[in-house]
Amino acid sequence: MHVPMAILQLLTCLIAAILSTAQGSSPPSIPHQIHLLRPQTGAAGESVVGVSCLSWRLGVETNNIINWKQVPEKCAGYLGHYMLGHQYREDSKVITDEAFLYAKSLRLAQDGKNIWVFDIDETSLSNLPYYAKHGFGVELYNATAFNEWVLTGKALALPESLKLYKKLLSLGIKVAFLTGRPEDQRTVTATNLKNAGFKTWEKLILKDLSIYKGKTAVFFKSNERAKLEKKGYRIIGNIGDQWSDLLGIPTGNRTFKLPDPMKIPQTILELSHDSLLNIPRQIHLLRPKTTGATFVDKVEGLSCLSWRLAVETNNIIGWKTVPQECEGYVGNYVLGGQYREDSRVVTNQAFLYAKSLNLSGDGKDVWVFDIDETSLSNLPYYADNGFGVEPYNASQFNEWVLKGVAPPLPESLELYHKLLALGIKVVFLTGRGEDQITVTSNNLKNTGYHTWEKLILKIVGNIGDQWSDLLGSSTGNRTFKLPDPLYYIA
Ligand SMILES: [Mg+2]
Repeated sequence: MHVPMAILQLLTCLIAAILSTAQGSSPPSIPHQIHLLRPQTGAAGESVVGVSCLSWRLGVETNNIINWKQVPEKCAGYLGHYMLGHQYREDSKVITDEAFLYAKSLRLAQDGKNIWVFDIDETSLSNLPYYAKHGFGVELYNATAFNEWVLTGKALALPESLKLYKKLLSLGIKVAFLTGRPEDQRTVTATNLKNAGFKTWEKLILKDLSIYKGKTAVFFKSNERAKLEKKGYRIIGNIGDQWSDLLGIPTGNRTFKLPDPMKIPQTILELSHDSLLNIPRQIHLLRPKTTGATFVDKVEGLSCLSWRLAVETNNIIGWKTVPQECEGYVGNYVLGGQYREDSRVVTNQAFLYAKSLNLSGDGKDVWVFDIDETSLSNLPYYADNGFGVEPYNASQFNEWVLKGVAPPLPESLELYHKLLALGIKVVFLTGRGEDQITVTSNNLKNTGYHTWEKLILKIVGNIGDQWSDLLGSSTGNRTFKLPDPLYYIA
């Protein structure tokens, strides 16, 4: 494996920084690097405006940051550019493409019972014209103003979703719209859908307030999906912008999460439907290859960023290797400040959550830590092996593990110590083999994880880099997903 010298040098700095963090309490001093996500750094760039907004957005999209009321004030400009720029479209397209690939791969019985559930607001229809006038989620949600907008019936189709809708219909799949909009908006919603290009549907399910007043979106939506199944439909897919569209049983065979970093409890510029396709292209932090006001059409790495978001949100699953063209991008990401920043937002959120709990203090509160890419970092190994571009080689990876020199992930180590200080016990839960117990214990101890509880007791929290760390029953009261675009474990 050929590793460019620059990468090796960067890696050396990274390991040095990680080790120094592990040993002392000094803040990590990873050299600032230029990569696609951090366009405003020079060779020795410092604080990057907007970086933490990007991390905040990833935290929201991965359901790590929950129950938030409004977009952080300082992120209004960032989000406006994101929503109006190409990145939002590109992120959506990677997800709807994946949804179609999935649908196409199915062997469907042509009995008219296959159904795909579409959420409406920010999934089928876009309310960006409204949000553009209301601070892109920075302003507190105003139900009256939003309903006035809905009643104009002028919401635009989200182009990628409309394409997916048409492709699914052509496969013989029926569509059910399931929305938190109330029943009294049925007529305007139906008209709006038709005008935007969604001409036909099997069901249009709105929220009947006589049944669901005061009930959560998850309760309402899962209850209505259960009703569909009772009527004999097979929900083969389910797409929405909110996690509440996708959680709850039954979810449907597979779910797809569209991006939405704005606060949209239910339900972008005066634009006609087609003009959303031609939104003036804007420069924003995610589109670094722009100069001044001139937009460079082909942005290298743009689709790698979308790919990474889709992976982190569990939209792209079962993948074997990082796409070849994303090797440089992923390498720069995991070696650069953005990976650290993304991790920090997640572990901070985890600590805030832990601190907010009323713990029993009976020594039974446990936090589950995954090990690889959560507690310990195997970046030195991956840097030598193409950052996930090369197929996973078990014997080679085990050789690396047996050296017992994996550095800690600084943010996780900090969280570990803070949780211990709260009286929470730690359980490490890993897919590593029994024969690696000694080397793993020593590696953990050498890097600052000095103590742990072996038995899984009452799990109050669970943190890992793979969705397989977090899914399943007994997940723990709340889960936290750390970034990892290097590999996928089912
Ligand atoms: Mg929605």
